[in-house]
This record gives sequence, structure tokens and C-alpha cells, in this order.
Amino acid sequence: MEKVCPECGNRILGRADKKFCSDSCRNAHNNNLNKDQSNLVRNINNRLRKNHRILTKLNTKDKTKTKRETLLKHGFNFKFFTGQYITKTGSTYYYVYDQGYLALDNDWFLLVKVDITL
Ligand SMILES: [Zn+2]
Repeated sequence: MEKVCPECGNRILGRADKKFCSDSCRNAHNNNLNKDQSNLVRNINNRLRKNHRILTKLNTKDKTKTKRETLLKHGFNFKFFTGQYITKTGSTYYYVYDQGYLALDNDWFLLVKVDITL
């Protein structure tokens, strides 16, 4: 079967296990892959940093209650967190680094600060 270079679309000539038409296409392809991955990681890190900043700002007493609406108004995104802790009674704490939150009734959230030991 004829193979084409995934970078430039040209036909690949030569050894059967060749994946790219040339070294420069192979390098370009790998650089782009790395770039996409770095972008993804950077974007997620930015989201996490923003969530952490919001929790730190709102959690003024190391244990604060706040409304979902307030979190959302600051731009909090519930999709991004770094860890979870499920208590014996089945409550789930979500953590963004050392800032945690627990969903309470009626759209209230308990914000907590935890000691993280690595
Ligand atoms: Zn090529």
C-alpha cells in the first residue's frame, strides 16, 4: 500500500517502515505534536491557577461558606481540580492544590484549606 507523509502529504519512497518523507517533515511533525501537548498542559495549568486564585480569594478564614453563583461569577470552573477526598460518610471534597471545597445543600459550598504534605 502506498504511504503518504503525515506532514506534507507527499508519497513516501524507500524503506517500508519509513513514516515521513524526510527528516525535516519528521522534525516538523514532532515539534507540532510537542507544541500541542505543551499548549494543552499550559491551558489546563492556567485554569487550575485561576480556580486556585478564586478559592484563595473567597476562602478568607480557612473555612468559609460561599454560593455556587459567587464562584461562577468569579469565573470558577468546576471541571478543573487536582484531587478528591471522599469522607467515610460519602461527602466528596474537591481540591485545587491546597484549597478544597465541598458542595452543601442549596448551592452553598464550604471552602476549606488543607495542609498538603508531599
Ligand atoms: Zn513530508
